[in-house]
Amino acid sequence: MNDAEISAAATLEPVADVARRAGIPADALIPYGHYMAKVDTRRLPGGSGNGAPPGSPDQLGRVVLVTGISPTPAGEGKSTVTVGLTDGLNLLAQAGDAPAEWAGRTAIAALREPSLGPVFGMKGGATGGGYAQVVPMENINLHFTGDFHAITAAHNLLCALVDNHLHRGNALGLDPRTISIKRALDTNDRALRETIIGLGGRTEGVPRENGFEITVATETMAVFCLATGLEDLKDRLSRMIIGRTRDQRPVTVGDLGPNGAQGAMAVLLKDALHPNLVQTLGGSAAFVHGGPFANIAHGANSITATNTARRLADVVVTEAGFGADLGGQKFMDITSVAGGFPPAASVIVATVRALKLNGGMAPQELDRNTGDAEKQHLEALEAGVANLARHIENMAAYGVPVVVAINRFPQDTRAELDWLTSWCARRGVPAAVAEVWARGGAGALDVARRLLEVLPAEGMASGWHSLWTADMTVAERIEAVVTRIYGGSAVEYAPTAARQLVQLVEEGWDHLPVCMAKTQYSFTDDPAVLGAPSDFTVLVRELLLRPGAGFVVALTGAVMTMPGLPKEPAADSMDVDADGRVTGLF
Ligand code: ADP
Repeated sequence: MNDAEISAAATLEPVADVARRAGIPADALIPYGHYMAKVDTRRLPGGSGNGAPPGSPDQLGRVVLVTGISPTPAGEGKSTVTVGLTDGLNLLAQAGDAPAEWAGRTAIAALREPSLGPVFGMKGGATGGGYAQVVPMENINLHFTGDFHAITAAHNLLCALVDNHLHRGNALGLDPRTISIKRALDTNDRALRETIIGLGGRTEGVPRENGFEITVATETMAVFCLATGLEDLKDRLSRMIIGRTRDQRPVTVGDLGPNGAQGAMAVLLKDALHPNLVQTLGGSAAFVHGGPFANIAHGANSITATNTARRLADVVVTEAGFGADLGGQKFMDITSVAGGFPPAASVIVATVRALKLNGGMAPQELDRNTGDAEKQHLEALEAGVANLARHIENMAAYGVPVVVAINRFPQDTRAELDWLTSWCARRGVPAAVAEVWARGGAGALDVARRLLEVLPAEGMASGWHSLWTADMTVAERIEAVVTRIYGGSAVEYAPTAARQLVQLVEEGWDHLPVCMAKTQYSFTDDPAVLGAPSDFTVLVRELLLRPGAGFVVALTGAVMTMPGLPKEPAADSMDVDADGRVTGLF
């Protein structure tokens, strides 16, 4: 059965029951149909605040970050392992032979919402796979509870207000050529990357160049995910820079109209900000909320959702997008800092297929690994494992224990899995094969045990520390990521970026964290350079100031904020029959 069929065949529990088991009172639950709900965190026991957790940190669940190696285009199963591991931890807590400290404990998953870009484009959905899925997968992958529509609407409202401001006389003196806010759409649509708007004469607005970003790359999405509550959301929105005046002074959302545009934007976002509760196929509670990409944004689900889950469970298993050099680094240095949840441990998802790709094997050869080819495949695996080694070192450098989850694909051979398991053992890295795709939570018990062996005990401080110190400049932060995480030797700045760096210093933004935008396929800024390269230079093309999100985005390589559709988009094989049954969704 494919993912959609497995999901459709599952018997789901009413969301009210999932909530009750998770300790969410009925009056905090805002159901969206039978199996999905939003949670009004102000009505949770002990707590005001829309996600900012009250109480002392040792009463809050420990955060386990699931990250990965440099992936193949299809993904290596971080969402799948996040879901399966959560189910595995909950199964283990009920088992007779549970580790003493874990008996009777609970875990909740916290994941990002899928974007329609990859759903209809190339990569597919984001609800996990096989028997490790959050359900109902079809709803979650499509319109879900409407959060992305709300975020798109709020962002586009801002754009409309900006252009109305120009049309009505431009009292703020915005230079139209410097307006950096683009319209948003949650679709891969290359034709909208660059647009010209306001054509048609005096009554049709002021003509200017504009463009679109995919919703998941917008600052509004980042703000939504990093906000700790409604007030923080409004503060952050008000700080977003729209553009500049002719004498280069930044104009913000807070400058628009008599009171700023943040209030109107927040009106559209207030319900979306409540985290979404669903369930896994194994019956665990899961929050699926917010969804910035990890190559062009910070790549983690909302802080509101993670902090809500921490109030309800002993462990929160969460994922960050793409490899540990992208989502992992940003989770460690940006998200966990903004959310106040230093990660307790990190699980690195590795697959035999992606390691062989990183070891130089052609994509079309990856699955032809039996018979005569076996030796050649083991050699590629051996060559590619350097990629895993680098990601392990990187995560360990943050001071948190690391566990490797070897996500088993049906085509993996015993010899390949054994080789990889023993490589981890030789390196002294706790590791286990995860069979969550084939077996759900039961296939994650070994990984769950390895994790519990290294997880700091409840109430113990995490060993986490950031790569950055508070006094580091933007350039120093970029250099730290490039040299200590990517393994490069130097950073170069294109003329535009060099100018922007000077401006950041002059304007006093030089202390901000940096959100690197880089290809997910390589440690370098070139997607074709796989494995674990060293001695390379990363070219920073542009630096985008995002004071609402609280960081500077460093664009490297050819990364784009509006993806295009591939030659054969997933949309080509989708359909719905007269009974409303969807096919081709994966
Ligand atoms: P990521 O979160 O790393 O991007 P996903 O969990 O979304 O990856 O998985 C990507 C795709 O791979 C999904 O279609 C999923 O069903 C599939 N997949 C994941 N793990 C396995 C596995 N062990 N065997 C077969 N397919 C898998």
